[in-house]
Amino acid sequence: MEKTVQLYEGKAKKVYATDDENLVIVSYKDDATAFDGLKKGTILGKGVVNNRMSNYLMQLLEKNGVPTHFVEELNDRETLVKKVKIVALEVIIRNISAGSFAKRFGVEEGIVFAEPTIEFSYKNDELHDPLMNSYHAVALGVATWAEIDRIKALAFKVNEVLKAYFLERNVKLVDFKLEFGRLPDGTIVLADEISPDTCRFWDAVTNEKLDKDRFRRDLGNVEGAYSEMMRRVFGE
Ligand code: ADP
Ligand code: UDP
Repeated sequence: MEKTVQLYEGKAKKVYATDDENLVIVSYKDDATAFDGLKKGTILGKGVVNNRMSNYLMQLLEKNGVPTHFVEELNDRETLVKKVKIVALEVIIRNISAGSFAKRFGVEEGIVFAEPTIEFSYKNDELHDPLMNSYHAVALGVATWAEIDRIKALAFKVNEVLKAYFLERNVKLVDFKLEFGRLPDGTIVLADEISPDTCRFWDAVTNEKLDKDRFRRDLGNVEGAYSEMMRRVFGE
């Protein structure tokens, strides 16, 4: 399948049309942004890590009953996926306090929750992705109750599968962001990406950060963290 016109350029990926109206090609860049786009940079090799890791995890999730947009990895940076209408919600699952949660509630990072939490943000750059509860989402027509129920169930399933998977690789899955989309028949599938850009990963023994927080917080060895996560997943 060949790329035709570029449909969209985002902060981390480009999306291209193909000859098949139901399929698009996503192309992963090395560009990194943080703090609502205020901090910009490049993480060498990130696009390759995120493309390959995301595809691997999406296939693992498919095997565990989570439908995804994944179709075929075309090369190190490009993947053929089912074109979806993205549900304008960022779905965040947390197992351990960190980031905006720790800040909002005035607690330290690293509190292990007895049960995972879920929250939604309205995916809207102009409004800076404000928190949104399910009633707000339904009121504004962002999703139906049936879609929200399905998205919640799938998001917790993703957490169950990935938490166990990463723990076997000596990594704590602290929190992560998912995006879901609708196929033409209305089926909800997992879309976008699952990578060190969208998850917090801590070494299970040392709690060393192995994700984009190294870039956000200027912790150094950013590329090293991405390649370490590649090693944990692929053994390379
Ligand atoms: P952003 O838009 O936040 O800058 P990216 O640079 O990752 O993010 O751009 C990728 C865009 O493609 C996102 O807006 C994402 O919602 C969208 N997207 C992800 N998967 C699909 C898909 N299967 N079909 C259509 N759009 C998708
Ligand atoms: N996240 C993301 N995209 C966003 C916001 C958050 O991928 O636009 C991920 C982030 O990498 C982390 C989780 O969602 O794994 C929770 O992020 P948080 O709300 O703590 O926000 P942050 O501290 O990143 O501002």
